[in-house]
Amino acid sequence: MNNENTPNVPTNFIRNIIEKNLKDNLYQHKKWAGTPGNKSHHQNSEIDVAKIRTRFPPEPNGYLHFGHAKSIFLNFGLAQDFNGACHLRFDDTNPEKESEEYVNSIQESVQWLGFKFDQHLYFASNYFQEMYDAAVVLIKAGLAYVDKQTAEEIKINRGTLTEPGKNSPWRDQSVAENLALFEDMKAGKHQDGELLLRAKIDMASPNINLRDPAIYRIRHVTHHNTGDAWCIYPMYTFAHPIEDALEKITHSICTLEFEDQRPFYDWVLAKLTEHNFLENPLPKQYEFSRLNLTNVVLSKRKLIELVEKNLVDGWDDPRMPTLVGAKRRGYHPLGFKLFMERIGVSKADSTIDYSILEDSMREVLNEICHRRIAVLEPLKCIITNYPEDQEEDCEVPNHPQNEALGSRTIKLTKEIWIERQDFMEVPEPKFFRLYPNNMVRLRYGYVVKCTGFDKDEQGQIQTVYCEYLPDTKSGTPGSASVKVKGNIHWVSAKHAIDIKVNQYDRLFSESDPGKTSGNYLDDINQDSIQTIAVKAEENIKNVNLGDQFQFERHGYFIVDTKQSSPENIIFNRTVTLRDSWQK
Ligand code: ATP
Ligand code: MG
Repeated sequence: MNNENTPNVPTNFIRNIIEKNLKDNLYQHKKWAGTPGNKSHHQNSEIDVAKIRTRFPPEPNGYLHFGHAKSIFLNFGLAQDFNGACHLRFDDTNPEKESEEYVNSIQESVQWLGFKFDQHLYFASNYFQEMYDAAVVLIKAGLAYVDKQTAEEIKINRGTLTEPGKNSPWRDQSVAENLALFEDMKAGKHQDGELLLRAKIDMASPNINLRDPAIYRIRHVTHHNTGDAWCIYPMYTFAHPIEDALEKITHSICTLEFEDQRPFYDWVLAKLTEHNFLENPLPKQYEFSRLNLTNVVLSKRKLIELVEKNLVDGWDDPRMPTLVGAKRRGYHPLGFKLFMERIGVSKADSTIDYSILEDSMREVLNEICHRRIAVLEPLKCIITNYPEDQEEDCEVPNHPQNEALGSRTIKLTKEIWIERQDFMEVPEPKFFRLYPNNMVRLRYGYVVKCTGFDKDEQGQIQTVYCEYLPDTKSGTPGSASVKVKGNIHWVSAKHAIDIKVNQYDRLFSESDPGKTSGNYLDDINQDSIQTIAVKAEENIKNVNLGDQFQFERHGYFIVDTKQSSPENIIFNRTVTLRDSWQK
């Protein structure tokens, strides 16, 4: 089933909800004056609340991974399709692990995926005053109190899934006492962890998240945005609904782990509205199932560990499931888009096979990449009846299905490089390529017949000898005169250039890293990178960093943006032409 608005996008339960909300005219045509946390110049601009508003709220404590991409495509995609807006909001309420480096890289990655946030760039930390004010509103309403219990006591008194919690001895302190203590917290009169502001809800609630959850804590830490202005910071679960409400978010979409937090999300909004701190329409939270992918880990904590232990070459290691890694690997934003459409959005937990992501990349790259020829495992081949100094241009299309992409020439000479795998001394059944007395076509060149070979002392094939059939050149009338079953690629030994190729594979050998071994680090695929010396056609000489090609019969390869130079050209393998992963 498709949407009215967006004929090609598969529908999902969130789209259905939005369509219904819009039909029910839920968002009144009323102007609303600005968002306090907006860092841009649009501070006081009016926002049309008749439209849907979503947000993508990363915490700037790491680089974005493929899981975040699912949330980005969902949130920005909905805003695009329903003519609304999506906010990029940094959920930076946790100063210890956050940094400007992460803030910048996250913005770049969202843009790389093809989304614009324009003026809709927000920082939760710009709402610290509002959050503090909201906490004061709750205290004054008798809905929050400052707890003096130790962390240990709080934990014990929280109860369990089967037993209710116990009220804190400080729970019924007067409003005045709570206000004074909260003021002291803010003024820096206490150590980290000494006092805690908690919502006063119900210590016996079957939902543990409602057993007087913490809403403000003391942290004497410098914040990447607010510096040392604050030594108390709001808890994520308290901050988030306030951020959403201040920005007039309509659909606050998160992953399923937050389902149990929804009652608290709604509680915060309801109480702050009752006490005139917020106003309707209020945001609503919806949960979808997170992306899980085989053979990688999608958790910032684990990705940070890989980087810090130098198990990978930084966040943008092409094997990393980060968006910066994907870019360096040659994964394409449109490949991610296709992948997200294929896997859909639902509430069902599942793990997606990595090959589906690779297939999506192949499909997109096949359309856009120019072809080039490279011999990954070179074996010398001499065309014995070809004149010693002769050189001939062979015309090669840049894309076999798209003439508009033009063609180029490569030079044929007496000595060429072919793939080692294209020759067999004794052919297996169904091997149609080179073996003694067999004929194959040298792609875009002549038909050749194998006349012999040399071996070294170890028995390794050293050179293959052929004779060419002069009337059979591709593109000439005689080319069809001889029918052959095999068709192999080659490069001129005289003109080919030496390049290096990093052949990447799955970062983890287990589909669910750590599941059986107990430690995901034990499941790192030791063969996930192999660097080989390759002979490439002469036209590769002039590549630029980030250029990407299909190497015919092999796969897609991109010029590495970090290590490659004109003197030492290095390609990264994005993906092979076919799935070769052994399951
Ligand atoms: P991680 O678990 O890797 O630390 P996170 O959820 O803590 O990720 P945030 O920066 O809080 O990272 O996430 C920003 C947004 O991305 C959140 O709305 C979150 O729900 C979403 N998100 C994170 N991981 C995934 C995933 N695997 N699939 C879909 N959405 C995700
Ligand atoms: Mg998180």
